[in-house]
Amino acid sequence: MSPAAENNADLHCHSDASDGALSPTALVRRAAARGVDLLAITDHDTVDGVLALAGDSLSAPRLVPGIELTARWRRIVIHVVGLAIDPVAPPLVAGCARQAATRERRARLIDQRLVRQGIEGAYAGARARAGTGVVTRPHFAAFLVETGAARSHNEAFSRFLGGRREPGRLDDWPTLGEAIGWIAAAGGVAVLAHPDKYGLTLTRRHELFTDFAAAGGAAAEVVCGRQTAQVTDELARLCQRHGLRASRGSDFHAPHPHAPDLGAVAMLPASVEPVWSDWI
Ligand code: MN
Ligand code: MN
Ligand code: MN
Repeated sequence: MSPAAENNADLHCHSDASDGALSPTALVRRAAARGVDLLAITDHDTVDGVLALAGDSLSAPRLVPGIELTARWRRIVIHVVGLAIDPVAPPLVAGCARQAATRERRARLIDQRLVRQGIEGAYAGARARAGTGVVTRPHFAAFLVETGAARSHNEAFSRFLGGRREPGRLDDWPTLGEAIGWIAAAGGVAVLAHPDKYGLTLTRRHELFTDFAAAGGAAAEVVCGRQTAQVTDELARLCQRHGLRASRGSDFHAPHPHAPDLGAVAMLPASVEPVWSDWI
């Protein structure tokens, strides 16, 4: 087993620059208190949280600049994590600007749909909850729950926000190859995020790994959040089969009794090479 596998690396989490509850600084402090050695903040389609920390001198954890890009593969939306990126690389910055415009259009579309369902003020409500960050569906969900339109976050998503079907045009998102290209142009490593979360059959999941590796992807998340040991084993096997390294993250968004805290997820199996083994 690679010695790096012993490290408590959390290479997937969100700050309030996207849909997380904590500021980048609070996230780093929380990670340090929980024994995380290596941390990547991977906000949805923005590096603002990473840039906010750029001036800080920290003893622990070590920070890996990251991002979680929304992309499309065939007719579904998938997520690609970029690690060890240069957050000011022009192709990535341009990509993030395109993503922000897509998200803004999508937020307006969600707002129009809600108006037709008799709910006013959702855009302003979501915008206020997003602060200076990008408006995401969880911000709309928070508005819907707090104003009583929905009883829970889950109900807000399934009843008003499209559930697994993303609102807006799929073609607005970059292709898998484009997203990997932005990460590569920023000197980073492209990681296929949570491959078990797309509702794919085993055959299609295998095809996704094939296309991801062919497009220059270097790793896949073998552990992301809470999952069964069986899922971990399956994903580890897929990494081996496709010559990919393995990543590990909590996908932490906020302190929550039913979601894992920073660093508090399963360790990687010994059969895979950690994506961070060159960085430690
Ligand atoms: Mn999120
Ligand atoms: Mn994701
Ligand atoms: Mn995420």
